[in-house]
Amino acid sequence: KDILFEIKNLKKYFPVKGGVLQRTVGHVKAVDDVSFTIYKGETLGIVGESGSGKSTLGRTILRLLDPTDGEIIYNNEDISGLRQGKLRPYRKDMQMVFQDPYASLNPRMSVGELIEEPMIVQNTLSKPDRKKMVVDLLEKVGLGPEARGKYPHEFSGGQRQRIGIARSLSTRPKFIIGDEPVSALDVSVQSQVLNLMEDLQDEFDLTYLFIAHDLSVVKHISDRVGVMYLGRLAEIAPKDSLYDKPLHPYTQALIAAVPSTDVLNVREKTPLKGDLPSPSNPPTGCAFHTRCPKAHDRCKVERPELTHMGEEHYVACHLYTEPEPVVKVE
Ligand code: SF4
Ligand code: MG
Repeated sequence: KDILFEIKNLKKYFPVKGGVLQRTVGHVKAVDDVSFTIYKGETLGIVGESGSGKSTLGRTILRLLDPTDGEIIYNNEDISGLRQGKLRPYRKDMQMVFQDPYASLNPRMSVGELIEEPMIVQNTLSKPDRKKMVVDLLEKVGLGPEARGKYPHEFSGGQRQRIGIARSLSTRPKFIIGDEPVSALDVSVQSQVLNLMEDLQDEFDLTYLFIAHDLSVVKHISDRVGVMYLGRLAEIAPKDSLYDKPLHPYTQALIAAVPSTDVLNVREKTPLKGDLPSPSNPPTGCAFHTRCPKAHDRCKVERPELTHMGEEHYVACHLYTEPEPVVKVE
């Protein structure tokens, strides 16, 4: 498998201000030492509760946010430290489809202008070619050329998401991050948009990072799935492996919470107690220990690292590692 991205020890911290002087009193570690690979042509799903850092992770990979530390290796080049001016060739390759197409589309621009705009910014096509491309893209997403002269408010949520997708395709990207692209849509419309995204992936050789809080959505579209908890990857695995043999207690709880129509597949429910702790003051050791039914002493003091469990299945949990021998240094 060819690698598109290698994410190494990526961190994105936001300062927290406090006191009368509004000094920096701490940090929200929205993304805290996350490493994983994205293969060419795959869909990698990223799941987590709101506040888990999944959107920040996506925006940081796209360099819409500057990373605090770590490497973002894209096609063998580290783009993590490139200044904005040097990012232009990458901007074309990487696009984002947002959760709320209405908020992400300028209401005063016609659909034709919205789809053409990224091409104007990239300045790679002549005006007639751009116009032709707009019609082509509208057709690809299942809308007719007459949509060009209309405005976003004249369309339904699902149609607006199609417009957002057409816009994201206009620079001929290689990589698209969908940040909860179907979360705001009716269930019936969700599957239409997901099917469209899958068709377009094949047609345009796209690689997807698909962010969602809904495990069922990610199951449909993903080849592999990563689970985030408070800025860290708890588990990452090929889809079947993750859903059939979840190893992390958090993943087990998330999967138990997905309503199952398959009676044979009812598993022991792992109740997830309590709320997500504050990301600005996460628990010590394993950040999940305050909610974990399997937490033990070690979990409160030692942070578990991602451990390879075979077949590209990785988990960060002390249940799967031998205790380190305690070496006392006098
Ligand atoms: Fe639970 Fe401990 Fe594993 Fe964390 S390391 S998920 S607290 S068992
Ligand atoms: Mg696919």
